[in-house]
Amino acid sequence: MFYSEKSKKEYSLTDQRWRGDDGEILRIKFEAKIFPEKCLNRKPNLWRYREAIPIVHDQHIVSFDEGFTPLIPVKISGKVVLIKQDQLFTTGSYKDRGASVLMSKAKELGIAKVVQDSSGNAGCAVAAYAAKAKIACEIFVPSNTSPGKLAQIEMYGAKLNKVPGSREDTAKAAFKAASENYYASHCWNPFFFQGTKTIAYEICEQLAWKAPDAIVVPAGNGTLVIGAFIGFSDLIANNIISKMPKIIAIQAELCAPLLSLAEGKTFINKGADTLAEGIAIATPIRANEIIECVNNSGGQFISVTENEILVSLKEMTQQGYYIEPTSAATIAGVSKYLSGCESTALIVSLFTGNGLKSTEKILKLL
Ligand SMILES: *Cc1c(COP(=O)(O)O)cnc(C)c1O
Repeated sequence: MFYSEKSKKEYSLTDQRWRGDDGEILRIKFEAKIFPEKCLNRKPNLWRYREAIPIVHDQHIVSFDEGFTPLIPVKISGKVVLIKQDQLFTTGSYKDRGASVLMSKAKELGIAKVVQDSSGNAGCAVAAYAAKAKIACEIFVPSNTSPGKLAQIEMYGAKLNKVPGSREDTAKAAFKAASENYYASHCWNPFFFQGTKTIAYEICEQLAWKAPDAIVVPAGNGTLVIGAFIGFSDLIANNIISKMPKIIAIQAELCAPLLSLAEGKTFINKGADTLAEGIAIATPIRANEIIECVNNSGGQFISVTENEILVSLKEMTQQGYYIEPTSAATIAGVSKYLSGCESTALIVSLFTGNGLKSTEKILKLL
C-alpha cells in the first residue's frame, strides 16, 4: 500500500503513481519477510531478500546481479571501521540498489518511458536499468555535473537535458516533464527506498545477523538515511535484530539544511559549491521524514568542512580506495563521529561512489 503520512490517504501499489492525488509525498507500507536460512542458498545479490522486496513477479526483475558488496575493515583516523564497498556497483554508485527495484516496478507496471533528475549518479543508475529493461528514459541534470556522469548517462542511451542554474532548477524542469510520464525519481518515488533498504539487510547478514551500533551515511535527499531506517525496522519486525542502530547522517557544511532544520534553525543557502556535489541538496523534499528517521534511531546529523572532505579523500585513496569526493564527505563524518564515541562500538559505513566518475574534479585537486 502507498500511504501519505500527511493526509493518511492510501493507494494500491499497482497504481501507476509516484505521488498522492493532492500531490503529497508517499511512503510504502509492505510486510517485508526476511528468511536468513533461505538467503544462504541464493546468489550474492540484493534479490536474495526476495520476500522483502515488493515486486510481484520474478520475470519483471531488472538486475545486473547488484548488491551484496564486500563489508571490509578500513582504517579511518587510526581506528578500524567496517565499510561497505558500494562504489563497486555496475554504474559506480550505491544508487543501483534503488534503481534495480524502482525500474523492476516500472517494468511490472508496463511503463514505456521514465523521467528522472539527479546530480548525476541516480541518473546514471536509472539510465542503465532503463537500458536493460528497454524502457525509454529522459534524465535532467544540473549543467555543472561531472562530465564523466553526463557521458555515462548518454552512452546508456538516455535523453540528457542539461539544466542551467541550481539543483532545484533541475528538479523543477524534471517535475514538469513528470506530469506526463512516470517519475523514476529517487526522491519522490518510494520504490527507490525499497532498494536502498537492502544495505541494512546485507550489513546485518555479513555480521552473522547482528546489528551494528551505528551506521554512518550521507544525507542529501536521504535515500540511505530512509533506506537504512526501513531496512533495520524490517529486521526488527522479523525478530532478527532487537535494536535500531543509530543513524549518523553526514552533510557538507556548505549545504547543510537538514542539520539546521533538526536544530530548529532556518537554513540560508549561500549557494557555495561543495566538493561533495552528490549531497549538495538545499531543499530535500523528504526533509521531515529524514529527520524523523535520524531522531527515532537515536542518531544525529554531523556536518563536515571542505578541508575535512579533502583530507578524507586523500586518506582513502592513499590506502587504495578510489572513491569520489562526495563519498569522502561521509568518511570525514565517520572520522568526526569516531572522535566522540566509545572505542568498543561497532560502526559501519559505506563508500557511496567510484572515483572514476569524477576524474575532472579530482584532477583539479592534484
Ligand atoms: C546520491 C549520493 C549520495 C547522497 O545520497 P542522498 O540520497 O542524496 O542522501 C552520496 N554519495 C554519492 C556518491 C551519491 O551518488
